[in-house]
Amino acid sequence: MARYTGSVCRLCRREQLKLFLKGDRCYTDKCAMETKPYVPGQHGVNRRRSKQSEYGLQLREKQKVRRLYGVQEKQFRIAFKKASRKKGKTGTNLLILLERRLDNIVYRMGFARSLAEARQLVKHSHILINGKKNNIPSALVRVEDVISVREKSKNIAFIKESCESATRKGMPAWLSVDTEKFSGRVVAFPKRDQITIPIQEQLIVELYSR
Ligand code: SF4
Repeated sequence: MARYTGSVCRLCRREQLKLFLKGDRCYTDKCAMETKPYVPGQHGVNRRRSKQSEYGLQLREKQKVRRLYGVQEKQFRIAFKKASRKKGKTGTNLLILLERRLDNIVYRMGFARSLAEARQLVKHSHILINGKKNNIPSALVRVEDVISVREKSKNIAFIKESCESATRKGMPAWLSVDTEKFSGRVVAFPKRDQITIPIQEQLIVELYSR
């Protein structure tokens, strides 16, 4: 399936949750969830009120998480299979796997203002893992991996701006970042309670177990 190229704010409105897909704009009152806080489409307001089936709820939760991490259906299913083969709760394993994606780590470390921008940085080879170039957004980072911005790319204006605003917003406890050096380390994998976005991962497990 092709990557979605429409308005990303529409995705937030569809899920009725701020997915923070547009960088700094998401933190302003221009955010579409502030100005148009209803489901898009002609009957959006009514649709929000209608009761959803169990399947509908499960599907929406899966779509929400997929959009949140910018993952396509096929990749999402692969991640789910991988998560189900690991020890522990499949839903939690899935979220941890998604958090470990290189594009997500670059975003969380504050080298990019949005996930889309982070993916672009990775694809254009601006990012190094342990000093080596890696241009695969879905690459999974490991504990103690050092993620850094390539020397030549440190002068890119938006990376600098992004680092400054990330310092103000704060950093997840499982990452350690030195924004002066454009470098960060994965201290540990995130624990479930450190993933603070409201997600009911059990619904996704139920959906794929049908
Ligand atoms: Fe979502 Fe950001 Fe658009 Fe707000 S501005 S609707 S949070 S993508």
